[in-house]
Amino acid sequence: MRIVLVGPPGAGKGTQAAYLAKNLSIPHISTGDLFRANISQGTDLGKQAKAYMDAGNLVPDEVTNAMAQDRMEKPDAENGFLLDGFPRNVSQAGVLDELLTAGGLKLDAVLDLEVPEDEVVKRIAGRRICRNDSAHVFHVTYSPPKKEGVCDVCGGELYQRDDDSEETVRTRLEVYHTQTEPIIDHYRAQGLVVTISALGKVTEVTERAMEALGRA
Ligand code: ADP
Ligand code: AMP
Repeated sequence: MRIVLVGPPGAGKGTQAAYLAKNLSIPHISTGDLFRANISQGTDLGKQAKAYMDAGNLVPDEVTNAMAQDRMEKPDAENGFLLDGFPRNVSQAGVLDELLTAGGLKLDAVLDLEVPEDEVVKRIAGRRICRNDSAHVFHVTYSPPKKEGVCDVCGGELYQRDDDSEETVRTRLEVYHTQTEPIIDHYRAQGLVVTISALGKVTEVTERAMEALGRA
C-alpha cells in the first residue's frame, strides 16, 4: 500500500505510523525524522534545513522533494510506503503525483487525522523524543517512558524538540492551516481521503485507522 498521513503537528502521525507501518509491512517515511537525522549527523542537508525547522517554517521544496524521492526509491519502499509529513503543500503533492505516475504507481489512501487544536497543543507540549532516533516518541503524561528521560526502545536520552516551544508551535499550526491543509482538497478530488478522529488511546486510533484503510 502507498499511504499519505496528514494532520496537524502533534496529531499523532509518527505514533500511528510506527504501528501502521508494522501492521502493513511497509516502511514509515517521515521527512521530519529524515531532516532531524541529517541535523544530528551534521550533513549539509541538515545545515540547510535547521533554520527553517527551528522557525517552524517549511524547508524549501527543492531540498525536501529531492530527499523524499531519494528515500522512496530505496529498495524497501518498492512495494509501498507510509508517508508522514510529506507532501506538506500542494506543490509537493504535485511532485509526488508526477513521480508516482511516471513509475506507473498510485496512492491507495490519504489518511487524515483529526484532532482539536487544544489537544494538539497539549500533545506537543509534553512530547519527548529520543536523541538516537526521533521516531521513538513519548509524552510526559500520555505515554511516559518507564524511566524518566530514558528511551524505552533503545535507552537513548529523551529531549524536547527545539521546535516544540510554544512560540514555534503557533507558527507551525498556521503553516499547517495555510499550506498543508489544502492538500486534503487536492487528494479529495482524487477520491483518496479518509478522515478519522485521532482522539482516544493510541491503540484505539490504530484500530480506527486500520478499519478506515480496509485492513481491520
Ligand atoms: P506528529 O507526528 O503528528 O507530530 P506525534 O506522533 O509525535 O505527532 O505525537 C505527538 C505527541 O502526542 C507525542 O508526545 C505522543 O506521545 C502523543 N500522542 C500520540 N498519540 C496520542 C494519543 N492517541 N493520545 C495521547 N497522546 C498521544
Ligand atoms: P515534523 O517532524 O513532521 O513535525 O517536521 C518538523 C519540521 O521539518 C517541519 O516543521 C518543517 O520545518 C520540516 N519538514 C518536515 N517535512 C517537510 C516537508 N514535507 N516540507 C517542508 N518542510 C518539512
